[in-house]
Order: sequence, then structure tokens, then C-alpha cells
Amino acid sequence: MTDNVLISPNTMEDFDPNSLLGDEATRRIAAAVTQARGYEHVALRAALGRVLAEDIRSQLNVPPYANSAMDGYAVCGDDLTKNSETRLAVSGTAFAGHPFNGTVQRGTCVRIMTGAPMPRGTDTIIMQEHVTREENHIIVGGGHKNGQHVRQAGEDIAAGSIILQRGKRLRPADIGLLASLGIAEAKVHRRVRVAFFSTGDELCSLGKPLREGQIYDSNRYTLFGMLTQLGAEIIDMGTVADNRVAVADAFLEAAACADALITTGGVSVGEADYVREILAELGHVDFWKIAMKPGKPLAFGKIKDTVFFGLPGNPVSAMVTFHQYVRPALLQIMGQTECAPTSVRLRLASRIKKSPGRMEYQRGIMQRDNSGDTVVKTTGAQGSHVLSSMSQANCFIVLPLECGNVEPGVLVEVQPFDNQM
Ligand code: AMP
Ligand code: MG
Repeated sequence: MTDNVLISPNTMEDFDPNSLLGDEATRRIAAAVTQARGYEHVALRAALGRVLAEDIRSQLNVPPYANSAMDGYAVCGDDLTKNSETRLAVSGTAFAGHPFNGTVQRGTCVRIMTGAPMPRGTDTIIMQEHVTREENHIIVGGGHKNGQHVRQAGEDIAAGSIILQRGKRLRPADIGLLASLGIAEAKVHRRVRVAFFSTGDELCSLGKPLREGQIYDSNRYTLFGMLTQLGAEIIDMGTVADNRVAVADAFLEAAACADALITTGGVSVGEADYVREILAELGHVDFWKIAMKPGKPLAFGKIKDTVFFGLPGNPVSAMVTFHQYVRPALLQIMGQTECAPTSVRLRLASRIKKSPGRMEYQRGIMQRDNSGDTVVKTTGAQGSHVLSSMSQANCFIVLPLECGNVEPGVLVEVQPFDNQM
């Protein structure tokens, strides 16, 4: 690799000069990935979690008419005496769905419920708690403001304005917003098609007893979960043996049908690690090592038009590299505008040991301390095979490449999992 940023090896005991810096890896992936072509028009409920493919402009005002924000009385503000009592005759009632149809004469008012249209001739609401009712009259005290407790037409959404932009992943509030405009269908990007398989002769499928030297294949399940949360269309190709022909065949099969292929295992430099070599034979290797921990061996490239991610086999490394590098790329393919993991800064509650030279993603737990502030600590053992640390964690603690040990009280970058992991 020729274009690494130069870092003095003396100060970076853990730095591998053949590895790519994280930011550079992100840039290269973003540059190599293209948005998938193809849209779908789906019913509003089915649009939840999908990425919007067009800007939505409102054809309506929401609310469509001025209406009352309170149960009370609709009055003409100018009828009220500012600093003393006013007596008004009640000339009718307005309910939500059953407007008052006349024009309200000066000196009179209308009993009104929340959501009912403001009757013609009125502009102000007096809460029912603030009046004294006397048969067919009310008595209102001083101190009310003209226009109070009225929701104006277009206050939420003005007709003609853009309320949702293409590239947004639709959340419950968004489909509600579309419904409030009477929109029953949305144009969304097609889902990204992702094929994946595990490599490793030691892997045993669920339902079979473990033989000597075997472990169960967990990566296919974490990948299934993370891809499902992301809204991908999944092609699970199972477990593939550590054998050149089998791995090459699986590569070609995936390249024929998927936007992206993800493998786990076989990307290090062991004798049975064929993934990178076969990627080079059948396609193109962009990079295969990132200065990060866990997850240093991460192969990225292309086989025909299919983007390829060769994740490390260790279960934590596979999840970390997926979250940092694969997920943003898949979102980009799906047309989503916001792709990077979200992060916040929190105070560290326990010491972290680290050598400079690699970006580190430690498994963390965010929680309230005794004074009520949210702080973060590690889950404990941080080995890249310790999948239980991912299960206990609710965030990654992200430590920059150049940093060494971190003491309690220091502000650190934290990426909350938000149900994605
Ligand atoms: P590799 O990247 O193939 O050298 O694998 C690194 C470590 O991860 C080894 O200890 C493997 O046994 C383990 N491993 C590889 N694939 C999986 C998998 N699918 N599920 C669980 N562990 C795995
Ligand atoms: Mg292996």
C-alpha cells in the first residue's frame, strides 16, 4: 500500500505500515460504491424503514383550517375588556367534525371543543377553566391575548413546502406525516441485495452436534440480524469450506445476483485463508487491512459490479467492521443520505488500556452515574472472540489511533447501538 499517511513508528508501537487509516478506507469505499437503480411504489405501511426516492411537497396546509387547541369558548378578541370582566352570550357549539356554521356576532361567543374549526367572526379561545358560565352567558376575566389557543392553518405544514427529502429512511413519524397529507403511497429505493457466507472448516451448522475441533457458526446469525435491521434483501449462502474451488464458485454465484457480497473468515494470512487471493483473481482488491482493533484484516474490492467485503472471522471483529464500513456502504447503495454511524461524547467511568497505532472500538455500556449524568464504561474482556461483550454492550467506545491509555473522567467518542447490533 503506497498512499498511507505517514506516522512516526516510534510513537505508534501498534501501527502496521501496510494498513490503511480508517478515514481513508471510508473514503475509498464511498467512492467505489454506487446507488442501486430501481424504485418501488409501496403502500404507506410498507414504506416504514424504506428510503424515500423523491422529495415530498405538501399539497395541503396542515392543519387545513384554523382550529381550537383547547376545550372552551371561541370569541372575537376585540370584544374583551382588557383589565376587567366581559359578559358574552353563547350562540352555539362547535365540535371537531361538526363545525359551527353561522357567523358569530360581536358580543357573542361559541362553545368549542379541541380540534373544531374556528367559527367565522372569532379569533381567540378562552379555556373553559377560565370562564364563569351563567345559563346562556359566560363571564370572562381580563388578561387574555388576542389569538391565544388557536392552531393556525398551515402551522404544522404550509402548502407548497418540502416536508421530506429524498434519501431519508422513513420512521413512524414520517409515515404519519405523509398520512396527515393524505398521501397513501411512497416512492422508495429498492432494497439492497446482499449475499453472504461464512468460511471455515471448523464451522458446524446449528442442529448438529459439535465434533472435536468444531465451533458453531455464529457470524451468519449476527449478519442476518444486522442486515435485517438495515432493511436489506438477504441471500444466505451458508458455510463454504476452506477450499479454493468452493470459495471461487461461491464468489461467482454471488456476483451474478447480489449488489454486495459479505464473507467472514479467511482474510488473514494463515495457510487456508484464500479469500483475498481469490478476490484478486476474480475481481479487484482495493485494500485488505485497516489500522483498527478489532478487525484489522478487512478486504474490500469488487467482483464485476458486486462490491465485496471480506470480514474477519472473529465474531466481534465481524460485527465491528460491519458497523463501521459495510453498513454505511449498504445504506449508500440504498440511496440513504445519512450513512455514517451516529456518535456522541461521554465521560469515561473506568480506565482503558490502549497502545497507540490503531483505532480501537471497545464494547461499552452507557449508564447513569450517581449524580444522574450518563457516563460510559467498558464491558470488561475485550477479546475479538468474546461475543458476549457485544451482547452486554449498548455502544462502542471509539478511541483514535494515536491515543494511548485513557483515564476516567476523560470525554470519549461513543457510538450508541440503537438496536442495530
Ligand atoms: P479466520 O478469520 O478465518 O482466521 O477466523 C478467525 C477466528 O474466528 C477463528 O478462531 C475462527 O474459528 C473464528 N470464526 C471464523 N468464522 C466464524 C463464524 N462464522 N462463527 C464463529 N466464529 C468464527
Ligand atoms: Mg478461517
